[in-house]
Order: sequence, then C-alpha cells, then structure tokens
Amino acid sequence: MTDPRRRVPRTDALLADPRLVDAQRTLGRELVKSVVAQAQARAREGVIQPEQVADDAVAALPASAASLRPVINATGVVVHTNLGRAPLSRAAVDAVVTASGATDVEFDLQTGRRARRGRGALEALARAVRTAGGVHVVNNNAAALLLTAMTLAPGKEIVVSRGELIEIGDGFRLPDLMQSAGARFREVGTTNRTHLRDYTDAIGPDTGFVLKVHPSNYHVSGFTSTVSVPELTDLGVPVVADIGSGLLTPHPLLPDEPDATTMLRDGADLVTASGDKLLGGPQAGLLFGRADLIERLRRHPAARALRVDKLTLAALEATLVGPPPPVAQALDADVADLRNRAQRIADRLPDAKAVDCVAAVGGGGAPGVELPSAAVSLPEACAAPLRTGTPAVVGRLENGRCLLDLRTVAAEDDDALVRAVQACMS
Ligand SMILES: *Cc1c(COP(=O)(O)O)cnc(C)c1O
Repeated sequence: MTDPRRRVPRTDALLADPRLVDAQRTLGRELVKSVVAQAQARAREGVIQPEQVADDAVAALPASAASLRPVINATGVVVHTNLGRAPLSRAAVDAVVTASGATDVEFDLQTGRRARRGRGALEALARAVRTAGGVHVVNNNAAALLLTAMTLAPGKEIVVSRGELIEIGDGFRLPDLMQSAGARFREVGTTNRTHLRDYTDAIGPDTGFVLKVHPSNYHVSGFTSTVSVPELTDLGVPVVADIGSGLLTPHPLLPDEPDATTMLRDGADLVTASGDKLLGGPQAGLLFGRADLIERLRRHPAARALRVDKLTLAALEATLVGPPPPVAQALDADVADLRNRAQRIADRLPDAKAVDCVAAVGGGGAPGVELPSAAVSLPEACAAPLRTGTPAVVGRLENGRCLLDLRTVAAEDDDALVRAVQACMS
C-alpha cells in the first residue's frame, strides 16, 4: 500500500485551484495557504482522503480576512458588551462602506479647501440634543471623561459622591481613569447617602468640577439619598454629568435612565455618554454642553489622541439621522410580535417550543429593567453547537434549556436562526 502522505497534493498545485485563486484575491495568500496547510495535515492524519484536500480547504475558508465572526445575539441582553455592544443599523453599515475609501471627512468639495472634520456627524448630534451649546466626539465615554478631567481639573479636585465611584467593567474604575489625567478625587457623602451640604463643604478653590455619574450597571436601593443635578448648579463650579447609556432624549420604557437633553436643561454644564449603548451606534464618546467648555476640550492638545476615525463619524451620523437602529428596535419590539415569531420558528423545528421569558437592557444601562419577551426553547445540548456554527448563535441557558430570546434577534434573521438550529440538530 502506498503511504497516503506521498499522495497528499502539493501546496502550489492546491493554490492553483480556481476557487483558491479567487480566495487569495479576497483573503490574501498567507491566510489561504494556512487553510490549505490544515487541510493537507488532515489528509496526512487520514481524517480525509488526499483527493478531498482541495474541497476541504475551500469549505474551511473564512468569510472574511478578519477573525471576527458574525453572531446572532439571542441572549436577550440588548446591549451585550461581549458581543460588541450595539449592532449597527443597515444605514450605518452603508455609511461606513461609503466612507471607507477616500472621502470628504475633512474637505469641502465646493471650495476645494480643508473643512471641519466630521461636520455632518457633529451637526446631527447638535440637532438631536437641542439644549447643547456645543458637541464633540471622542473614542469612547472613558475618553470623554479623561479629556474632561485633563481640561477642567489638572492638579485640581473632582468632587464626586462615594456612591458614584464606579467600576465600568474589566477592572477599569472611573476614579483611576480620571486620576491618570492628573486630577484628584474628593469623595463626599457615604455609599448610600449623599446630601447637598456634603458637596458645599467640599467645594473650594481647588475644585475642578463636580461629577455626577449615573450608575449604569448596578442599583442602590433602600435607605438612600442622592443630590440631583438641578441642586448642584448654584455651587459656582462646572457640573459634569456622565449619563453612560447615551439616551439623547427621554425613553418611555426607561423612566429612570437619564438623557442628555434633560440633563443640560436641568443645568449640567457638560454631559458625557457612550455611542454604542442605548443610542445604538458605533463605539464613541459623546460630549454635549456649554459652547465655551466644549471649545476648551476640543483645543486640548490630547484631544487629537482621542479623536475618532471617518468610519465612526459615518456610522454615528447615519445612526442619528437614519431609521431606528437595532437597539431601538429591540427595546420597542411588541411582545405579541415576539410571541408570534417564537411560535412560527418553533413550529419549524423538532424538540422546540415557544415560551415567554424576560429580556434585559444589559451593559448599556437601566439596571433592573425587565423587558417582557418570547423565546424558542431548545434542549440545553444545542447551546455549544449553535455557538460554534455559522453563523454563530448565542442563546442563554435557563432551567436546563437553551433559550433563543427573540427580542435581540432582528426579524430578518429568523430564517438564518432556523437554518442554524436545523444544522446543529442534524
Ligand atoms: C459604560 C459607561 C462608561 C464607559 O463608557 P465607554 O464608552 O465604554 O468608555 C462610563 N460611565 C458610565 C456611567 C457608563 O455606563
């Protein structure tokens, strides 16, 4: 018998296969070579036959040259940090594609001169928050807070309630972040109660600003007391409000979630927020507020290190002016529609049933808010193959079942969801 290793096709012969020639054009030669090498290894190990190597390599080609894979978020967590927070709207994706080549991000095509960078996105932000005298965009909310601390409080104190010194995830804490800008923290009050006199006692010549943070990932209840923004506006120092979630105007389902428009009307001098939480846009840090303060932030030398790229500006503008993004659709979805979809999907699958469940807003804000929802309930054993399939589907485990919560799945993905489940059940 001939040694099967002798019959494994050579790399150059495989790379000449028309399908793999095509793949080299879209994925690059090195990536295709590594996929081919893995297929050859499988043939040497006897897992596949030598004449299957080309087909095996073609089947194993990734869809794109980046390793990030598309996921259907069936977790029921609307803003899922580990799944990249807000999915972009179709309009935002189209805008990103348009802007990905050479584009007039900083150029006026009428005059042929340099123009204000990202003016379209900035104008859309200003229109969305009418109470803002000025707006600015940076890399994320952490960058917005860093720039604020660097500009308004270098060598000075940031006065903040003890109950609002939050960790934003992955071990990052707001106080550490802002202290790295050379500011000191002056904590006032206690974990559960802070009064106006705690702030007035702490404010003096060393104060850079008062910081109000909306705790977006936890909720203090019981014997509590906090001081609201309107009460803090007469202290003679700027009031900066970190609202976190990025609601620009009030949302009826999220009455406890602060929004930028109201915060500014209430007297905040600056508001900071994330672009990829409840706003449903790209990762960005949004700054709204007094025109003179925004101008100082913009002119800070470090602002350049925190600026966003043209893709972010394109996605942000399209999110603001385009149709409601997936996050808004998920929040506003009607539970009767979700139940119908769950039933229709369950009817097409073995061992599946439609169930009622409860979805959550997630890392983006509104701790404790429960969103009534509907799911397709599957055997628990489906979870792992669904996660590793194409497209990957991430559900959640509950009472020994794998639930696919439809509040976070776009209706147009229902067919893909059915096919993914069928593939892992066969
Ligand atoms: C999420 C959050 C942050 C961090 O925002 P990033 O955009 O992730 O940098 C800061 N503050 C609050 C209150 C938040 O909710």
